Amino acid sequence: MAIIIDGKALAASIRREIKEEASHLPRRPGLAVILVGNDPASELYVKNKAKDCAECGFLSQQIDLPADVSEELVLETIGKLNADPAIDGILVQLPLPGSLSKQHMLEAIAPEKDVDVFHPLNVGRMVQGDCLIWPCTPAGISVMLDACGIDPDGKVCVVVGRSDIVGKPMGMLLLHRHGTVIYCHTHTPDLAAMTRQADILISAAGRRGLITADMVKEGAVVIDVSVNRDPDTGKFTGDVCFDEVKDKVSHITPVPGGVGPMTRAMLMRNVLTLAKNHMGLL
Ligand code: NAP
Repeated sequence: MAIIIDGKALAASIRREIKEEASHLPRRPGLAVILVGNDPASELYVKNKAKDCAECGFLSQQIDLPADVSEELVLETIGKLNADPAIDGILVQLPLPGSLSKQHMLEAIAPEKDVDVFHPLNVGRMVQGDCLIWPCTPAGISVMLDACGIDPDGKVCVVVGRSDIVGKPMGMLLLHRHGTVIYCHTHTPDLAAMTRQADILISAAGRRGLITADMVKEGAVVIDVSVNRDPDTGKFTGDVCFDEVKDKVSHITPVPGGVGPMTRAMLMRNVLTLAKNHMGLL
């Protein structure tokens, strides 16, 4: 029977540590979130970010812009936040509606306030292993592995998914932690042949039921990043067939309550790190 990694409890203890550390800083760390349009999922994510900021004692600022806003106005807003001494981290909630260029927005954020690590300069630093912060989801998974005493060094790490936000940086982080990394995606001819090699399997495909028990090695560590809604029950599930896989592996994350809360906690930790850097404390 596997250890079920409790991301919710771990995230709560991390938030307490962040709050304590932030309380000793010369001023409150500040996060600014730009929300364009009114996508309900994005609105919920942004609301949660404000809640987490409040819990950690951070300043949070939300800028709501209409879906038909001009690119110039968004860029002007980012420019003001770049210059605002009370703001340490800026994020533009994705996806962006309409004709707005994601790349233009993300490149306009000052690299030292780029809390999502999307700016090309920071992505380059990440590849070089010289970044101040890692993207929130991979960072959260790395902390989870540490909390369970799992060291990727020398392990075969299989990452299913290669998105800029999860898959790519996840593999890069594991590589920097001396894992032997295999990336899988929709062009991988025999996914099961890859996943069966994994000592650590990270699934971020967004495909419910993709990872079945026959696809995992006995005693593996299985981290399920995905959040898929079951159309029949309306409940959230990951990629992994949790009930059948849990009896075969050493550690597994649930969905919900696994990677999701850790991602949120790491956003707060990234803001704290950027704030300390901004204050000249690093
Ligand atoms: P994404 O941009 O859609 O990327 C999905 C990746 O999975 C792509 O690289 C795709 O390959 C690959 N893939 C899809 N189906 C596959 C299959 N059948 N076999 C192998 N690879 C397959 O998604 P994302 O933004 O990375 O997010 C992934 C999932 O994680 C989503 O469910 C999302 O909601 C969730 N998520 C959760 C958190 C959290 O904190 N828990 C954070 C972020 C995202 P191609 O590149 O070839 O298309």
